[in-house]
Amino acid sequence: MKDCEICGSAPATIKASIDRVILQVCQSCSSAGKILEAPLEKKSKISMIAQMIPQIEIEKKTPSSEELVVADFGKIISLARQKTGMKQGELASKMNEKIAVIHAAEQGKRLDLALARKFEKFLGVRLTEIQ
Ligand SMILES: [Zn+2]
Repeated sequence: MKDCEICGSAPATIKASIDRVILQVCQSCSSAGKILEAPLEKKSKISMIAQMIPQIEIEKKTPSSEELVVADFGKIISLARQKTGMKQGELASKMNEKIAVIHAAEQGKRLDLALARKFEKFLGVRLTEIQ
């Protein structure tokens, strides 16, 4: 190993800048300057493992199955309404619907999903099912 360029009595293990002159110096002489490279030091080039893994968004799979109004909705609505003690007209005004709508629903004639939801909300019954 090369001897220290300053004292010449110790192995030059450190590369240091002393008075802007880069020299190979020993441990003790290196304190006089700015250490540029210390070979004994383990070069900690531990590369940060970049967290490149993208956040996989868990896609909520929407069920391919359709939500449908149950077949016997008329009976369910009618019974549920009677339980509440409301007349068709009362329920109609409460739901802000025409009495004909209530009547048709109770007769099992017509009920779309939106209206079914409304009945569910007002009567506390289940009128839809996943198919
Ligand atoms: Zn020295």
